[in-house]
Amino acid sequence: MPPTVRVFDEKTKKVSYAKQTQAVKGKNKSNCPLCAVGDNANKARIYDFKDMDADHVSTWSKGGDSSAKNCEMLRSTHNRANGNR
Ligand SMILES: [Zn+2]
Repeated sequence: MPPTVRVFDEKTKKVSYAKQTQAVKGKNKSNCPLCAVGDNANKARIYDFKDMDADHVSTWSKGGDSSAKNCEMLRSTHNRANGNR
């Protein structure tokens, strides 16, 4: 784990959540980009905001910042398995 944990603020997370959820609307696709790809039981599942966590698209350890464009909402279980992001 890197020593500094960067977090996205609540507003950034909500904007990203709304954007992702809107993008998959009517497409029978999950609003979690990791669930949406591949073949799994959750690939068309729409998660609630409270079930998701923000993730850095470019990892923090590689210089990614905590701006909205580097924010991706993932089902919270992915993030926990993915400790260095
Ligand atoms: Zn997922």
